[in-house]
Amino acid sequence: MSNLSIAPYFPFRRIRITNETLIQGAAHIEVTPDRRFHPICHLCGQQSSSIHSWTERPVRDLNLASTRVWLFCQYRKIFCLHCQRIVTEDLGLFPPFFRVTLRLAQYLHELCKVMTVKEAAQHVGVDWKTVKNIDKLFLEQEYGQPNYDGLRILAIDEISIRKGHRYLTVVLDYLTGRVVWIGKQRKARTLSRFFNQLTAAQRKALEAIAMDMWDPYIKAVQKKVPHVKIVFDLFHVVAQFSKVIDQVRNSEYRKASQEDKAVFKGAKYLLLKNRSHLRRKKDRQQLEELLKLNEVINSVLILKEKLKHIWSYRSRTWANKTLDEWCALARALNDRAASKFAQTLERYRYGILNHCEYSIHTGKLEGVNNKIKVIKRKAYGFHDLRYFSLKIFQAFAN
Ligand SMILES: [Zn+2]
Repeated sequence: MSNLSIAPYFPFRRIRITNETLIQGAAHIEVTPDRRFHPICHLCGQQSSSIHSWTERPVRDLNLASTRVWLFCQYRKIFCLHCQRIVTEDLGLFPPFFRVTLRLAQYLHELCKVMTVKEAAQHVGVDWKTVKNIDKLFLEQEYGQPNYDGLRILAIDEISIRKGHRYLTVVLDYLTGRVVWIGKQRKARTLSRFFNQLTAAQRKALEAIAMDMWDPYIKAVQKKVPHVKIVFDLFHVVAQFSKVIDQVRNSEYRKASQEDKAVFKGAKYLLLKNRSHLRRKKDRQQLEELLKLNEVINSVLILKEKLKHIWSYRSRTWANKTLDEWCALARALNDRAASKFAQTLERYRYGILNHCEYSIHTGKLEGVNNKIKVIKRKAYGFHDLRYFSLKIFQAFAN
């Protein structure tokens, strides 16, 4: 660093450079407070002339190309009359407790938007915990204060964060696509915690919530915001019915003759797929053969299509009538699984009919799910749920 000075790259007003050296490829810059200015308190910004002590700390600054830059920064501890305590002076260089300058911290925060914490740490040459803490601090400033104003329609779903075991409850503003809240687990308590955070006026402003037929969530809504219309998601209901189709296939297979059993081979996949999505002629033929052979299986597939129709009505009367017809057909099959499903639909009838007024669904959350998986990788998993949540708020902020 003989002829080249770092000074032009140094927009810091309250300090002066006293020495610059290059040690093992890293720039060591010694800086000291500019005595023309009185020290100011980092908490309240008031000037103070009561100097308590001098101290020094190395802080990392932005790299100069590939050269790492260390500032050996002298600064003062002062007694602030306003705060009535000894505080660190504010040099506009690094926030107290930081081991990096504010501009490096901002840069790291930007990097964390596009790469993992580990990658950002490696790229700049800073410890990954430092990077994570910095990113978290900025996120807390930007997204830490929840905003529940203007919420009218929500979509709520659980997201599995570790195969089948750990769940998060995600609350989405249906109209803007913003993730508004994330809670651990998927119990009634979990969702109640969200409603507890809303003011009475915010709760009153809620109109409808799209969700799965998941009793703990239903319980929380009925208890905390009983006026809100629950709307059950078609996709989830069809997915549940697919299990019925599979059970029917199993029981029909057991009843079938040895000869007919051959037609069942590999049929599980054919039955679960949308009929129009079957591309291979061979698959279509096998399905037709099976449907001709077995009336019960034929009927459950028809029921699957009819099930979707219930969600297509805007009139409660018609939707109600179609639902009744559907249940009668399902019971006529004399199959235990199908009858049980009819019972389920009747039990949740209210939330199916509500779809007539609010044609909403949780499909939007499917996209959220995928994005969250990417964030999980970037944010070092979910060990720090707060950090993980903030990253999600950031990703869905608009
Ligand atoms: Zn102060």
